[in-house]
Amino acid sequence: MSIAENLAWVRERMQAACKRSGRNVDDVRLVAVSKTKPATAIEEAVAAGQTLFGESYVQEFMDKERTVPEAVEWHFVGALQTNKVKYLAGKVALIHSVDRLHLAAEISRQWGKIDRTIDLLIQVNIGQEASKSGTSETELASLVREIATFPNLKIKGLMTLPPYCDDPQEIRPYFRELRRLARHLHDLAIPGVEMRELSMGMTHDFETAIEEGATLIRVGTAIFGERQYKR
Ligand SMILES: *Cc1c(COP(=O)(O)O)cnc(C)c1O
Repeated sequence: MSIAENLAWVRERMQAACKRSGRNVDDVRLVAVSKTKPATAIEEAVAAGQTLFGESYVQEFMDKERTVPEAVEWHFVGALQTNKVKYLAGKVALIHSVDRLHLAAEISRQWGKIDRTIDLLIQVNIGQEASKSGTSETELASLVREIATFPNLKIKGLMTLPPYCDDPQEIRPYFRELRRLARHLHDLAIPGVEMRELSMGMTHDFETAIEEGATLIRVGTAIFGERQYKR
């Protein structure tokens, strides 16, 4: 199957999931996660109408960002080291994976240098897996309060990367929990904090995520095929 065919398949599934759950298709955006895939694959997806891409590795992102000429929107979805934030400044529209104060401080500082603000999501570790990044549920509200005080960023919502389960139904409670946390934070009415975006759902479980309120789904394999290297 070509990338164009894969994209059509994903969009069809998205529409069906929206219909099932009484949601508007325009309220769910597809982030095509192109990590480890060449710029030519991104160009193929662009030709098929996809304009939003997610990357996970800073160096790789920089290489592709230079090569892909089209006006695409880039999101950073992977684990981010503080010392690499400077390479993203002004080049990405949304960072999905902010999980610590120090990282947020550096993001605000780097976007401050170019006199701009950046949108970000707070990554929550719902499964409490030792191997995954994300703030704990118990620390979430205080972290959001602290990050919200930085001048050059805006918190727009939450992101999660739940544990892998063969059965997407087993992941449903994680998605529900992320939505519950977002509603709770919304009710706290922290100045400057919006809880509009829920970034959840990948190749395996994006339909379940849509049913549970995802506004951004991050899909790689179903669009670009299996990855040969890294994760
Ligand atoms: C790789 C990755 C994805 C895409 O995963 P697929 O299972 O290939 O769809 C989504 N989110 C993050 C944070 C990733 O690193």
